[in-house]
Amino acid sequence: MHGGYLPFHVPLIEEEEIRAVVDVLRSGWITTGPKVKAFEEAFARFFGVRHALAVSSCTAALHLSLDAIGLQEGDEVLVPTLTFTATAEVVAYFKAKPVLVDSEPYFFNLDVRDAERRITGRTKAIIPVHFGGHPCDMDPLLELARAKGLTVIEDAAHALPAKYQGRYIGTLSSLTAFSFYATKTITTGEGGMVTTDDDALAARISLMRLHGMSRDAWKRYSAEGSWRYEVLEAGYKYNLTDIQAALGLVQLGKCEAMWKRRAALAERYNQGLSSLEAFRTPQVAPQIQHAWHLYFILVEPKALCIHRDQVIEELRQRGIGTAVHFIPLHLHPYYQRQWGYRPGQFPVAEGYFDRCISLPIYPSMADQDVSRVVEALRDIARKFRR
Ligand SMILES: *Cc1c(COP(=O)(O)O)cnc(C)c1O
Repeated sequence: MHGGYLPFHVPLIEEEEIRAVVDVLRSGWITTGPKVKAFEEAFARFFGVRHALAVSSCTAALHLSLDAIGLQEGDEVLVPTLTFTATAEVVAYFKAKPVLVDSEPYFFNLDVRDAERRITGRTKAIIPVHFGGHPCDMDPLLELARAKGLTVIEDAAHALPAKYQGRYIGTLSSLTAFSFYATKTITTGEGGMVTTDDDALAARISLMRLHGMSRDAWKRYSAEGSWRYEVLEAGYKYNLTDIQAALGLVQLGKCEAMWKRRAALAERYNQGLSSLEAFRTPQVAPQIQHAWHLYFILVEPKALCIHRDQVIEELRQRGIGTAVHFIPLHLHPYYQRQWGYRPGQFPVAEGYFDRCISLPIYPSMADQDVSRVVEALRDIARKFRR
């Protein structure tokens, strides 16, 4: 239980992770090597996919995915405006245009009908984000992509482990990108993974993630390796290290147990908050498994006389850390200056942003921590009733 201040997020790093990292440090091989290979194999087995390619971040995973599908200058890629900048900035790396899309009003995932309206002759791909860990409605999205000849690259930074109609996110489209950033559902500090069943895409990503050097270049300092390699492309330095992979292997083993705990915390939040008019609790579609990376509530202006910002301040004064996910991309200076986006263009995402608060949800939280947040919100709802 967290006594004084309840942080917004704390990663669950236990003795097993610490021992695994120390073992790598003592092994004499600390960058990409056998632990990365083992992590990739375990990840691929977890999902039942042909390829899992470890990289240095989800941003790198998305960048390499767009490279692998051959994105060109002047192309367009559909991206939700309600996401982290990484989802869209990787499109700009190619001098291609991130075409922003509004959210649907239930789960705040990318609105497929709005996406369809924004397709042009230059649209090459669509990057749905499973917002907060609630899977996008993938059937209509995959159908649209098939009909229009678009590649689907899923941003699954929030979606481990999430399921759509009984199937894991990570198995549904051409390419899926995961994040192991410090606040995500499993962490390696920094890190990412691409899953795919496509051998050619996997080969390209494998080549480009380490300087465009010919196969298994990392082996060149090992007993099995040879000093000879060839540079086939101008690649990137996007490899994961064995230190990180050792962390990832342990975290992946706990992934399901940590998810169960977050799901239980979400259920507790729902029970405590659903009777309050001042806050709307998150909705969940049938036939899905929510990863519960985020638990967000929406302030109801009809029932509360203070704005979201003041609710956050009231929670802070009560020792409770929160966050806001996300400031929609079209409200940021870069997207306005470079691509001409303006406030008012994506009303659902903006309406969400104006009212949302992400509450703490992570496995080391005790039931009493949730009770404390619920009590604080009840108190705020009473004090500032409209
Ligand atoms: C965290 C995050 C990313 C970026 O992940 P990194 O591993 O930090 O590169 C991408 N997309 C979304 C939606 C995220 O939340």
